[in-house]
This record gives sequence, C-alpha cells and structure tokens, in this order.
Amino acid sequence: MTDNPVQKAPSLEAKSPFELRVDLGRHVPETDVRTALAGGDMGFLHSFTTGSTLDGPGVRVVAWLTGCQFRCLYCHNPDTWKLTNGVPVTLERAVAQLGKYRRGLKVMKGGFTISGGEPLMQDRFVVKLFTAARSMGIHTALDTNGALGHRLTDKDLEQVDLVLLDIKAWDPQHHRQLTGMELGPVLDFARRLAARKKSAWLRYVLVPGWTDVPEDIAGLADFAAGLGIFERVDVLPLHQMGAFKWKQLGMEYTLRDVPPPTKEIVERTCAQFRAVGLTAY
Ligand code: SF4
Repeated sequence: MTDNPVQKAPSLEAKSPFELRVDLGRHVPETDVRTALAGGDMGFLHSFTTGSTLDGPGVRVVAWLTGCQFRCLYCHNPDTWKLTNGVPVTLERAVAQLGKYRRGLKVMKGGFTISGGEPLMQDRFVVKLFTAARSMGIHTALDTNGALGHRLTDKDLEQVDLVLLDIKAWDPQHHRQLTGMELGPVLDFARRLAARKKSAWLRYVLVPGWTDVPEDIAGLADFAAGLGIFERVDVLPLHQMGAFKWKQLGMEYTLRDVPPPTKEIVERTCAQFRAVGLTAY
C-alpha cells in the first residue's frame, strides 16, 4: 500500500446509512484497490452503524460496504455504488471496531450484518471479517442481492450464519429494467443456499407499478416456499429517504414521484407470501 491512506481515514461510525459519503477512498491508487479486493486485507466501508433491529435477528451492528454492480432505480444509497466513495479500512481496524460491540451484542442476542452496496463486490474482505466475527462468538448475516454468490465457496458460506437475500423482482424483464442486471444468477444462488440448507430471510422491496403485480408476487412466493430455507419474508415498502442523495450526486431519480405502496397493497403482498406457508412482515 502507498502513502498509508488508512491513517487519514475518517470515522467509521455513522448515525445511519443515509449519511451521504463520497470520495473518501479516492486517494487510494488503483493497484492498491485491486490488491485489496483480491486479498481482503483492506476494504471500503460507507460506515458502521449500531442498533439496527431490521437487518437480522436481535440488535445488529451493520457494516455498510461500498461497491455495487446493480443500479436499482429506487436505491436508497447510490453513494455506495462506487467502491472508492467508501472509507479505506484495514481488516485489522474493522475487526477492532467490531470487537468494541462484542459484549453488547452477546447481551442483546444480536450480531453483525454486512450490507451495502453489494458486499460481495468485496467478497474476500467479507469472508475475513465474518471469520473474525465468528471467532469472537458473534452471529453473522450477509445482506446481498445474490448475483455474485458464486464468488463464495462452500467453505466461505460456512462463515455466514444467515443470508438476507434481496430478490428485486420476479419477472426477468422487470428485474433487468429495475436493476440493470439479470435475475438468473440471483435465483441460482438462492437454489444453492437451499441445497446447502442455509438459513435465509427473503427481502422484497415493494415498488408501486414495478413489483406490486400479484402474479409476479405469487411466482416469487411459490419459488421461495419451494426452497424451504426462508425463515421469514420482509416486505419493504418503497420510501424516499435516499432521494436527496440522487440529487446531491447529480443523478436523475426517476422514481421521484412514485408514492409508497398503500397499507392495503403491503398487506395483500404479505398475505400472498403467507398463503404459501411463509412468515411475512
Ligand atoms: S443492490 Fe442495493 S445498493 Fe445496489 S443498487 Fe440495488 S438497492 Fe442500491
């Protein structure tokens, strides 16, 4: 590594992932970025947040990693798309940060979640961080869009106690239009998790006019129920808390005028998942 960029790094903690963070790792040379990605001894983090009760069981510490290959039209954190918007941090520093919460997490029966961005853009860093977490007795959860699941070996997967799998759309064309990427690899990863009987939660963002089509939800619900691994389904209504980031980044936010789904549509969607035997919130 050159010029010890880590010493200049700002605080890892944020009040929430909705803090806009840009260019915090811009000074890291391209070759060092490549080395970091290949080895996982350094990563790029938007932030650490504490106290989440939504990102896995119990109270969670969440590491929000930067880098994402999806371009979801509703993304709440587009500042996480670019890897070098994140704080460059050594594995050692990230593990030390996590260690601070160790006792509290045990008391609150919580754990450590890695989210993003798409964490598997930094798959080696994720595996090393989870390995360290588990050696401290901390439960691990990976929040992922699943498309890069092939980067994890079966041995790597053993370091993940729970996968929070975000399936963005059931209709392949909608998935492409909504995310810019294909649905197939996501479903392949879901099937692989099922083959390994890996505990998982399904996350589904409900976007009026995009992902609220009852036939699509029924198809996803059947698929999810058939896998037999989803302990719960979280139906997440679209919100506009990240809209300001699109504006500040000078990007056009095309879902600006889309309202959140009504309570009735949220409830109808949950009911479709429950109808096939899944627990949905
Ligand atoms: S996968 Fe997540 S971080 Fe990536 S674009 Fe979609 S919502 Fe944003």
